[in-house]
Amino acid sequence: MPRAFSPRAQRVPLPAGHRFPMDKYDRVAQRLEGVGWNVLDAPDVADEALALTHDRDYLGAVAGCALDARAERRLGFPQSPALVRRSRASVGGTVAAARAALDDGLGVQLAGGTHHAFRDRGEGFCVYNDLVVAARALLAEGAMRRVLVIDLDVHQGNGTAALCADDPRIATYSVHGDRNYPFVKERSDLDVPLPDGTGDGDYLAALDASLPAFARAARPDLVLYQGGVDVLAGDRFGRLALSLEGVVERDRRVATWCRDAGVPLVTTLGGGYHADVDATVAAHVAGLVVVAETLGV
Ligand SMILES: [Zn+2]
Repeated sequence: MPRAFSPRAQRVPLPAGHRFPMDKYDRVAQRLEGVGWNVLDAPDVADEALALTHDRDYLGAVAGCALDARAERRLGFPQSPALVRRSRASVGGTVAAARAALDDGLGVQLAGGTHHAFRDRGEGFCVYNDLVVAARALLAEGAMRRVLVIDLDVHQGNGTAALCADDPRIATYSVHGDRNYPFVKERSDLDVPLPDGTGDGDYLAALDASLPAFARAARPDLVLYQGGVDVLAGDRFGRLALSLEGVVERDRRVATWCRDAGVPLVTTLGGGYHADVDATVAAHVAGLVVVAETLGV
């Protein structure tokens, strides 16, 4: 069974009716425990690791709950010490999952994928960019030389793209809805924008046509996967139309590439905002189970 990390011990009370689905994280963890997975508490992240990716003034403002009103609105969460603790554990869990992946071939973070966080600002529910923080922390330790971020959330990984634009050690690949937020896209090393309403067949064909060649050329020592399930038909913030089976096939392809190339894989949850939270949870769980089966972990 894979090692999975969850920041669920750090609870964040949100205002009633807030559109962020905080519940899904606990439910995904419980479902995986139900099939025998070992879910560990995500550790706090080291300040030095955050400082490799984020601006010092921004880190200070977040830590002190001193973001201005505009920055807080862009983030989408009310500031609180609980949110800071949760966000730190969410990054720490991705760092821990990356270490687990280097040991075991697979490390699972049951949160994270906060790809809209930039060097000096957060947006779209993303305080820190866990993907880039984890990549840079392990690169700095000399644990690896090259990383590939595969971002299949329905929203472009704009923060990740901007953060890594001048970092040749980290290759960025994003498949996303062309007309979705963020409306001004950043430039990933490879972007695959898809039209509204794209379903399983066209989605998987686009993935097959671009991912294997790009990933091979990147020659990564580690893959960080943002497996957002907001690609599902019926997601409130997505515009694509994948079925549950399509999401599982997508995740199987990512894991199969890693298995065949012998590259360790870190999975992060990313988005998922279906009107029916059960549909979001089921897609996350089914995808993770097939990833673990594919990798034999
Ligand atoms: Zn998303």
